[in-house]
Amino acid sequence: MNFDLTEKQKLVRNSVRKFSEEILGAMAPIIDNQGIFSWETARELSKINAWGIQLPEKYGGSSLDSISYAIVIEEISRICGSTGLSVTVHNSVGAYPILKWGTEDQKERYLHDIATGKKITGFTWTEPNAGSDAGAIECLAVEDGNDFILNGSKIFVTNGGVASVLLVGTRFKKKNGESGIAAMLVEKDFEGYEIGKIEDKMGMRGNATSSLYFNNVSVPKENILGNLSDGFKIAMHSLDVGRIGIAAQALGIAQAAYEHSVEYSKGRIQFKKPISNFQGISFKLAEMATKIDAARLLVYKAAYMKDSKEKFSKESAMCKLYASEIARQVTMEALQIHGGYGYIKDLPIERYLRDAAITTIYEGTSEIMKLIISQQILKGNL
Ligand SMILES: Cc1cc2nc3c(=O)[nH]c(=O)nc-3n(C[C@H](O)[C@H](O)[C@H](O)COP(=O)(O)OP(=O)(O)OC[C@H]3O[C@@H](n4cnc5c(N)ncnc54)[C@H](O)[C@@H]3O)c2cc1C
Repeated sequence: MNFDLTEKQKLVRNSVRKFSEEILGAMAPIIDNQGIFSWETARELSKINAWGIQLPEKYGGSSLDSISYAIVIEEISRICGSTGLSVTVHNSVGAYPILKWGTEDQKERYLHDIATGKKITGFTWTEPNAGSDAGAIECLAVEDGNDFILNGSKIFVTNGGVASVLLVGTRFKKKNGESGIAAMLVEKDFEGYEIGKIEDKMGMRGNATSSLYFNNVSVPKENILGNLSDGFKIAMHSLDVGRIGIAAQALGIAQAAYEHSVEYSKGRIQFKKPISNFQGISFKLAEMATKIDAARLLVYKAAYMKDSKEKFSKESAMCKLYASEIARQVTMEALQIHGGYGYIKDLPIERYLRDAAITTIYEGTSEIMKLIISQQILKGNL
């Protein structure tokens, strides 16, 4: 077993780290403070191909492997969690299902603009009455000639305020009585598509998270992703992929909080000594480092298994569960190490804590991750 990154993966880490520190560093506190999505940042991200990380080169993507993908998300999130969120959701649960289940026509129509960031994308499943219980969605698409007429509403849509096209989960009803759950590609320019309010959130404030309303939206049948009744399967598999990205995001935030804590503890003098000289502080650093390393190994393992075409539902749930939980713990400890200064917005510590908090919730809560892991174990996937 070889734990070394390849030369290409090291290059990806170095170049995205440099980009993130130089370009995202100044914007991160501004978009957090103002609660706005930055189109300027989006354009900068296009220059490093961050909107098409794993898309094939023929669509304008970088065709990177999944470990490189995790590295990109970790490095962006190390500097700006909100930007990490926009990028990971766009690439994973947004672009990936089109690549995996899309027809050649759908890929041609959407993937070029998605890869360059001209079109931002995402995935909208959650509704007021359907959160963890993803099968309880109520949006309804009724067959009407060559279209389905879509009605209903969605909430908490990452990228919802800025996306041009979204994967929408909906119930469907056909003329012949057939019904089920479908995944459809719905464009913001379709008549009857309405963007609701941009949520005022605790963290990830630079992401335009919104609700959406569909009022008699005609969705052409050629915009159905995969087989009509495969929507739920498509969503669950896409979330397996998405969770690797959310775990990498949590990892990046934890890494940032840890690095700041090491530096701060070496420079802060109390009782005539750097506080890092006190075991009460240095042991916290040891625990942080150990948890971060363990989380990174779980992320890389899930990414590796995905690329090896092995089943990776359990491993993606494990890395999401662990990385998000430790991100909460590590950012909380970072606040403790920084004392009162950590609580003040002049330092990024309180932002890391606010950004880390959601990672245990979206793309499946920690409780749902334990459900997925335990179901796999009890099926014999030890
Ligand atoms: C900022 C943000 C961005 C988001 N982005 C998206 C997006 O882009 N697309 C999208 O579709 N959704 C998105 N979501 C929704 C997110 O995935 C859901 O919030 C999440 O899945 C939980 O659903 P819920 O909020 O309805 O909580 P609930 O499902 O109501 O859960 C409440 C609590 O009950 C627990 N619980 C529920 N069922 C069980 C069970 N069976 N066993 C044990 N405990 C259980 C949960 O773990 C949780 O602790 C986003 C949410 C936020 C806040």
